[in-house]
Amino acid sequence: MSDRVPAQLRTRARQRAGDRCEYCLIHANDVMFSHQPDHIIAVKHGGKTTEANLAWACFLCNRFKGSDIASIDPETDDLAPLFHPRHDLWREHFRLEEGQIIPLTAVGRVTARLLRFNSLKNVELRSLLQLAGRLFVPD
Ligand SMILES: [Zn+2]
Repeated sequence: MSDRVPAQLRTRARQRAGDRCEYCLIHANDVMFSHQPDHIIAVKHGGKTTEANLAWACFLCNRFKGSDIASIDPETDDLAPLFHPRHDLWREHFRLEEGQIIPLTAVGRVTARLLRFNSLKNVELRSLLQLAGRLFVPD
């Protein structure tokens, strides 16, 4: 969905996020592919191209999220919304531990699973970045 975001909004989304993925926390300088603006609520679900509906996302999170806005919680089998970077606080839904993103809520569980936060490669990368002091949990 990044092709429809005007440059000015794109820049604001990047700056607001400090050029970090608002889902998996990876900084744009630490991955090969560019971060992108993500429509938190996809246009096909009625989401608008506004600051309030844009997140800054790494290529992988954006790709795995696609236009999804919810998924089934593996613990309860109930429908749960995906993490919403403009409404939800990261630390209320996730905890960072030795490179792993541990989900704390239904929102956390569906987001971590759908966006594949804890694939081996992602955990290895985040472990190294955490050790190097390059990974920060937002306030
Ligand atoms: Zn990400």
